[in-house]
Amino acid sequence: MSDAASYSVRDGIAVITLNNPPVNGLGSVLRPGIMDGIKKAGADPAVKAVVIIGSAKAFSGGADIREFNTPKMLVPPSLPELNDAQDACAKPMVAAIGGFALGGGLELALGCHYRVALPKSQLGLPEVKLGLLPGSGGTQRLPRVVGAAQAVQMMTTGNPVPAEKALALGLVDEIVQGDLLEGALAFARKLIKEKKEPRRIRDMTVKVEGEPKAFFEKARAEVGKASRGFPAPLEIVACVEAAVNKSFDEGCKEERERFQKLVEGNESKALRHMFFAERQTSKIPDVPEDTPTRQIRSAAVIGAGTMGGGIAMSLVNAGIPVTIIEMQREALDRGIATIKNNYASTVSKGRLKQEDMDKRVSLIKSSIRLEDAKDADIVIEAVFERMDVKQDIFRKLDSVMKPGAILATNTSTLDVNAIAEATKRPQDVIGTHFFSPANVMRLLEVVRGAKTAKDVLATTLKLGKQIKKVAVVSGVCDGFIGNRMVEKYGQQSLFLLDEGCTPAQVDAAAYQWGMAMGPLAMGDMAGLDIGWEIRKRRYVERPNLVYSRVGDRIAELGRYGQKTGKGWYRYEAGNRTPIPDPEVDELIKKYRSENNIKTRPIADAEIVERLIYALVNEAAYILEEGIALRASDIDMVYLTGYGFPMYRGGPMFYADTVGLKNVLNSIQRFQSGYQGAVWKPAPLLVKLANEGRRFNE
Ligand code: NAD
Repeated sequence: MSDAASYSVRDGIAVITLNNPPVNGLGSVLRPGIMDGIKKAGADPAVKAVVIIGSAKAFSGGADIREFNTPKMLVPPSLPELNDAQDACAKPMVAAIGGFALGGGLELALGCHYRVALPKSQLGLPEVKLGLLPGSGGTQRLPRVVGAAQAVQMMTTGNPVPAEKALALGLVDEIVQGDLLEGALAFARKLIKEKKEPRRIRDMTVKVEGEPKAFFEKARAEVGKASRGFPAPLEIVACVEAAVNKSFDEGCKEERERFQKLVEGNESKALRHMFFAERQTSKIPDVPEDTPTRQIRSAAVIGAGTMGGGIAMSLVNAGIPVTIIEMQREALDRGIATIKNNYASTVSKGRLKQEDMDKRVSLIKSSIRLEDAKDADIVIEAVFERMDVKQDIFRKLDSVMKPGAILATNTSTLDVNAIAEATKRPQDVIGTHFFSPANVMRLLEVVRGAKTAKDVLATTLKLGKQIKKVAVVSGVCDGFIGNRMVEKYGQQSLFLLDEGCTPAQVDAAAYQWGMAMGPLAMGDMAGLDIGWEIRKRRYVERPNLVYSRVGDRIAELGRYGQKTGKGWYRYEAGNRTPIPDPEVDELIKKYRSENNIKTRPIADAEIVERLIYALVNEAAYILEEGIALRASDIDMVYLTGYGFPMYRGGPMFYADTVGLKNVLNSIQRFQSGYQGAVWKPAPLLVKLANEGRRFNE
């Protein structure tokens, strides 16, 4: 027997203890041990019942992710073979669940005939989050225990249920107060005393709420609507339907087939890529994980505008006290009021307790004196996007902040090195580029300046985790990773309008493909004045960059998007739904005729290719220049900051799926089209395409 599973007998009860830290992943070291234990218990006439127990923290987290995509996954016995052995065991078997039983971990527990759990335990089948379905009978056993509706709910959301709810659902038989093993043994002794037989879930039938056909029609409609583009949730519904209509073994066969289809599909591959990509972002080749970090006990935020307010909320949400600083009292009061309103609206929706709001608000201090930032361990500047203003603030911060404090800027386009040079401590300066709304969006681009110290980078990444962001490191360049790419995407969206598309057509194609919203609706949301300001600067700084001036025409009319009620679309008061506006169509038409642009019908497929490959090509430059450390970091930026569809895995992963050669061929075709000169295939893309390789290898 392997060390990962130990076997002992107490008072005629066999105890199989799982010991495969950190989460009792059902890896190749653990499965054989469990099988041995079940066999031993079956063969020993002195044994009357069996208990399977993990640690107090984890019964089991399911498949061992360290063995994903390795031959170790195939080491026998498989989990279904274990489940068969559990079913075949003639002695009642009890799962003693401490902590969580998730995925394969819950399937192991469902293979047991009874389940007891600690009060704080969590039970769930989260496979859907990786684009999969429970592949070891979970879709057949769970509905037999909790009914079809609950099973659909649990498996299509992937969210676990707490012990108390599991008890109400019949998923656990008893909640153990006190020591888990003692409680499980007592439960097993009771079974023996009452001469209880093994109670196999496979022999039960599924309770369906109402008439089955109608139930599943409704479930399919609801789940389909909630899971745009993701195939797994509907496959799960189909499996539950099989659990109702077919025998257990036939249902398991169907589950296996559907599981296999999902495993091989791009969507699940994309979600698994994302799962691993997220874990990669904090790995910096020259900054080892054990790099000492500085203590962050308090923070200051300069500027209480859109971003400053959101950043302050992110910090206090994680329990870090913040001093917010503005130039003038009115702006400060307005900023603080907005923060309170935001919290109050969350409280009114029932998503935050009043006392938690009060606690968070009490962590916020405010001031109109920059000197009041002086004791903070980190100061984050979020004032107007102007170099002279920022440099002035950093000069002052340099003179007031205590030694060792981190000086961070939230700039989206300015040169972090030039900001750092305004101080005598450029090693302490770093970029923290939050996304709007900063208290909601998960992405945080951490901009590493030429002189940023390693411990400053390590501390900022750690802080990013603490405030629940996905922190991705970017080098210094105009727009960093995300906005530098999005500029090319926006550029193509305008060229598409020039060539004959309407804003609604461009946006619909992008949305259908999976983007959270199309590029023009996104512009309306962010404010068209922002892009306009950037373009005006570009016309001077980089006159070679070509833009369609149609975007300027819109902005010149004061149509700044949602905030003015008009942009690429029009908006009705209090409503964010974009409504196509004939005035805009007229304006675009006029622009085309003034510039003698010939229009043509453009298929949705071409719209998507041009938008997405514009991102991909710029990303290839970014990767080659070392601005991003790895392709998967770029994917994370788009997945967490730009509404890129998760089931496509990010722009780089998507390009890999299409095949880089195909991507390159399309880009070469675009070179001879309208404004084709902007398409310069990145050397890295050309090289990898020619070598038949991928960005994410
Ligand atoms: P904003 O205009 O809403 O807020 C800026 C605030 O800074 C104003 O309240 C202003 O009074 C204050 N301020 C200006 N000078 C100051 C000074 N010397 N001392 C103290 N306060 C001062 O702007 P915003 O949208 O919050 O943007 C702030 C920064 O964040 C900019 O650098 C911007 O590029 C960047 N950013 C913005 C977004 C976005 O979507 N809005 C996203 C990422 C980054």
